[in-house]
Amino acid sequence: MTKPTINPDLEVERRNASFNVSKMTEFLHGGVQQLKRVKQIKKQLLGEKIFGITSNGKSAEEIYDLSVKKNVILFELVAKYNWNIDDLTIAHELLTTGLPLSLQIMMFIPTLERLCTDEQKQKWLPLAKSYKLLGTYAQTELGHGTNIRDLKTRADFDQENNQFVLNNPFPDGIKWWPGGLGKTMNCAIVLASLYVDNQYKGLEAFLVPIRDMETHEPLLGVQVGDIGPKMGLLGSDNGYLILKNVRIPRTNMLMKYSEVDRNGRYIQHGDPKANYGAMTLLRSGFVRISALGLQAAATISGRYSCVRRQGHLDSKGEEVKVMDYVTQQYKITGNIVNAYALTLISMSTADYYHKVFQEISVDNWTNLLELHTITCGLKAFCSEISSDGIEVSRRACGGHGYLASSGLSNLYVDHLPVVTVEGENTILYLQVARYILKKVSSFALKGEGLPPSLQYVSEPTNGPISIETLTGLCKILQIRSSFQAKRVAEKFQNLLMSGENQGIAWNKCSQELVNAAKAHVECIGADMFMRAFQKSSTIYPDLVPMLEKLLKVYFYQRILEGAIDYVESGAVTIKNLDVIRERHCEYLTSLRKDVIPLVDAFDMEDEQLKSAIGCYDGWAYDRLYNEAQISPLNKLQVQPAFQKYIKPLQIKSKL
Ligand SMILES: Cc1cc2nc3c(=O)[nH]c(=O)nc-3n(C[C@H](O)[C@H](O)[C@H](O)COP(=O)(O)OP(=O)(O)OC[C@H]3O[C@@H](n4cnc5c(N)ncnc54)[C@H](O)[C@@H]3O)c2cc1C
Repeated sequence: MTKPTINPDLEVERRNASFNVSKMTEFLHGGVQQLKRVKQIKKQLLGEKIFGITSNGKSAEEIYDLSVKKNVILFELVAKYNWNIDDLTIAHELLTTGLPLSLQIMMFIPTLERLCTDEQKQKWLPLAKSYKLLGTYAQTELGHGTNIRDLKTRADFDQENNQFVLNNPFPDGIKWWPGGLGKTMNCAIVLASLYVDNQYKGLEAFLVPIRDMETHEPLLGVQVGDIGPKMGLLGSDNGYLILKNVRIPRTNMLMKYSEVDRNGRYIQHGDPKANYGAMTLLRSGFVRISALGLQAAATISGRYSCVRRQGHLDSKGEEVKVMDYVTQQYKITGNIVNAYALTLISMSTADYYHKVFQEISVDNWTNLLELHTITCGLKAFCSEISSDGIEVSRRACGGHGYLASSGLSNLYVDHLPVVTVEGENTILYLQVARYILKKVSSFALKGEGLPPSLQYVSEPTNGPISIETLTGLCKILQIRSSFQAKRVAEKFQNLLMSGENQGIAWNKCSQELVNAAKAHVECIGADMFMRAFQKSSTIYPDLVPMLEKLLKVYFYQRILEGAIDYVESGAVTIKNLDVIRERHCEYLTSLRKDVIPLVDAFDMEDEQLKSAIGCYDGWAYDRLYNEAQISPLNKLQVQPAFQKYIKPLQIKSKL
């Protein structure tokens, strides 16, 4: 009998979806037009066989070689299909891993566009866009990442020669981490403390050539290299950089917002707020990356759990699919629900970003700080849920989840930096907390108004609340958050009144501040997905019952996870908690039959997932076996190590 194309265990799961899967795919991609665009880019990108090749079993040099080749082919596709920056972002998202030249597009060119004068842009952008200038963004040093005010790299103005002289002290001033710096890029935007006449002026950005544009050899005074093996992102050569009296022309300082003129005068001009705004774009991008990472993990683990049979629920019949165990549903379906929530959050965050930037384009800056706070918080919140969720998925696949060929271990280690880069998560939460503290204190002490995202702090917290409706569940989140914000604001105020200085008082409250920030960000997240949900109800009314169910489960999960806080704040009673626990279980089990349709709706291609156990056809065991055959150790039947070490041991052994 010939083997069916699709594993029957998976095929049967696809028969009885309780919602329209293709409509859901359309909704999750932001509509029919955007889905069409994504599908077209997928076809163009994944049609190139190289993007399906993994790094599994390859040496560091081979991985680097493969990654550079992929990157160059990616750039060739940009030219061939005339992709714009949004198309390229889609392509990067489909690849799910960093490439050596990624920062050229993600950081280098955008920073030149943001911080350069028109004259500088005319000079450098054509070189950057034609890949003559290959650049990275060098901010972090060995000794400092979060606290950039104390970076040790310095740029001294030499008025006589009209140059800056750059140095960074060994070892703590060494630039450390920038993507592509090790071997790929020939220049870097270096963040350094500017000194004129030995007077500190501020932190500034400089375009510093580091390698010869023809030979690619490091330039005089430059020491550069790779920082060594990392947990993941193996194709990306994160590097170090030592600068010893490296001279660059005065005009290599990025001078849109500040400059040093020929006479050594440091002049600031323009509104640096615009620069601040660009960070929000990067962070809202991480919200989307988090959603996509979790979608991939949920797809792999969901499909595998429906073809993996192990054990019995009764003494008769065949072994059950592991997906039928309720404990597995808590893990797998729980992650699917989170992936939907993060996707909806990322959709509304992008809309909000565009709305605020439209306001800014007509010189209305009112909502920039709010946007900054929202994107800081959501980046931290979503990246935490996704990286934790990917690991839950990996474990939920048992031993095979530990194999590189499962795709999950690579996905996990490549995804993990999202909690650290573009603001380490705790630091981001503390920034959100600073905003909450300021606004809530001004509201409580001076009667000042609250910004839109904190309006709920002024609303009454009594009265009946339904745990059966999305608005009721939102309210529960808000009551908890309001309670925590007021409590920590009061504690902080009391510490100040008792004579504690700001810094010490802040540090003493910091864990509660982080908790209050997390609680607030959960409310923002809920507000964001409610916006997307409401949008769906007009355009895709048929999807509403399923989306509503998913979002309720999401709320129940959040409340059960923070149960003590919710009870303490009075947002729920112990009795409510029992009902929530029951509802959660009921809904999760009712979602069982939709697990595969729900993950199929993410529309992840096999070439994207690169997983032997998560493929669309569900033939996990065949693929695992085939992957084992190409393991480097299987090239030889007897490895030299046998003759070199084991045989002599056997001969020497007297027993
Ligand atoms: C894969 C990867 C790629 C990267 N790419 C680049 C790049 O291209 N360019 C670049 O410049 N950098 C890059 N980085 C560096 C990255 O931006 C920093 O690692 C990040 O900003 C965190 O800073 P840190 O390493 O100094 O962490 P630290 O600040 O040392 O954090 C260590 C711990 O201290 C805590 N902590 C620190 N300060 C405070 C505080 N004030 N209050 C409370 N807790 C605190 C943190 O919460 C954390 O738990 C990259 C890093 C990684 C992992």
